[in-house]
Amino acid sequence: MPLKCRAFNCAKSNCRSAGDGSTDASRRWTSMMATVVLTLRVRAARTSRTEVRGALRVNRLSMKLYISADMEGVAGITASEQTDPNGQPEYPQSCKLMTGEVAAACQGAFAAGVSDIVVNDSHWNMRNIIHEELPPQVRLIRGSLKPLSMNQGLDPSFQAAAFIGYHAPVGVADAILDHTYSGESVYDVRINGELCSEARINAAMAGEFGVPVIFISGDQNACADAKSFLPGIEAVEVKQAMGRYSAASLSPQEARAAIKNGIERAVRGLQSEGARARPFSFKTPIRLELTFSSTARADVASLLPGSERPQARTISFAHEDYTTVFKAFRALLVLGGSIS
Ligand SMILES: [Zn+2]
Repeated sequence: MPLKCRAFNCAKSNCRSAGDGSTDASRRWTSMMATVVLTLRVRAARTSRTEVRGALRVNRLSMKLYISADMEGVAGITASEQTDPNGQPEYPQSCKLMTGEVAAACQGAFAAGVSDIVVNDSHWNMRNIIHEELPPQVRLIRGSLKPLSMNQGLDPSFQAAAFIGYHAPVGVADAILDHTYSGESVYDVRINGELCSEARINAAMAGEFGVPVIFISGDQNACADAKSFLPGIEAVEVKQAMGRYSAASLSPQEARAAIKNGIERAVRGLQSEGARARPFSFKTPIRLELTFSSTARADVASLLPGSERPQARTISFAHEDYTTVFKAFRALLVLGGSIS
């Protein structure tokens, strides 16, 4: 779902300086005090870095996991109506199915020694997961708009990330509800010429924070997509798609058991490696090409400063910094999604 970006302003402290009428003595006093303050700040910064290093050591023993959860890749989901929160009768059942898989992932991670889990609800309006059905210590990020959307809440304190209920990119056959961020307006998304799934886009965002993605669940093509750029990933197929709207699915119970076991293996594997798995990133400069479903959408999206329009329905944006590319991608989605 297209979402707007938010910009944060940094708070700056006001500076105070000596007045024009200060004497030599007062200037010396001011200079001496400035030296004292600077020395104290340097010591405080050294102490702070030591504390941070200490905290990271503790985190390696008590691991912190980030989970981004979508709905189209959950066992039993095969139709758009199931995933639509706007009054569709099957939607509440889909929330239970999605929640069951996320809860199973949390249970598997805790069993492997993870101590802290943050779950980001990443589907549609991002208010799908039933928090009371997750293990009570799990923190849930819910609702939108979120500046980093499906990646909200990621930071360098996490040792790993996992994707639950994910799906294949737009344009892939035999993939349940294949799309990339928008099912309506997006025809194709490429970065550096490669077709991009949400998993690839989000893994690169996790990579910006130095966080590797170690697990994914979804249909066979969601898993194949993830393995194509994350060769070491633990991937659990919960259904075999035989078209966009049909699949042979595991039962919810079997899917949950497979996810629980799979994420437990992934976390134990990460621990036994003795080092972090490699975070994913794109080679720079990073060139995004977003092809819309209509020229009207591209007309509006082309208003984004810094973008180009190499083809009638395609808008491109290039930058060295991936976070900037990601925000441009989301801005293009909002602009292109504002018209049909
Ligand atoms: Zn999705």
